[in-house]
Amino acid sequence: MKIGVLALQGAFREHRWMLERLGAEGVEVRKPEDLDLVEGLVIPGGESTTIGKLLIEWGLMDKIRERAAAGLAIYGTCAGMILLAKEIVGSDQPRLGLMDVTVRRNAFGRQRESFEADLNVPEFGADPVRAVFIRAPYIEKAGPDVKVMAAVGDHIVIARQGKFLATAFHPELTNDDRIHKYFISMIRGQA
Ligand code: GLN
Repeated sequence: MKIGVLALQGAFREHRWMLERLGAEGVEVRKPEDLDLVEGLVIPGGESTTIGKLLIEWGLMDKIRERAAAGLAIYGTCAGMILLAKEIVGSDQPRLGLMDVTVRRNAFGRQRESFEADLNVPEFGADPVRAVFIRAPYIEKAGPDVKVMAAVGDHIVIARQGKFLATAFHPELTNDDRIHKYFISMIRGQA
């Protein structure tokens, strides 16, 4: 199975390695044509304003929206989650706007630029997910079609809406591959 990893800016290599470890083929996506053969797309962490501008500049914004409307599965981490959101608090930056959620950027406060937490994710059983947050956003409001899979207090940090999955943290920086595995089963229509 070929899965694209948006490779315009940010932490894309680690996602490719994680997908390959799970037996998928990771394809770096830089041009619209790169999307033609992939069955899923990962949007990595990085700087969401930069990635959004580059999506427009490289002709990828419309192409990704088209493929998404035709059923392409998309997983966004951190900046990727921001790009998937319909609403971004206090910002009119470019975005895909595919998920019915409101995100707040750099939301955990300055004293917590980066931190780790154990998340209870019922979907994955009793073993918690060790999550690395780096200048992370969270979802502060989610529409009725959004399934909340994990939260820190009332801040949503894993959410799914149909074929779209978002995490506020960086699973590609740990050894825990359950999120990527889950995404692969979403692509297969098994999750
Ligand atoms: N703070 C970044 C943004 O707003 C996201 C950080 C990240 O992806 N690790 O785009």
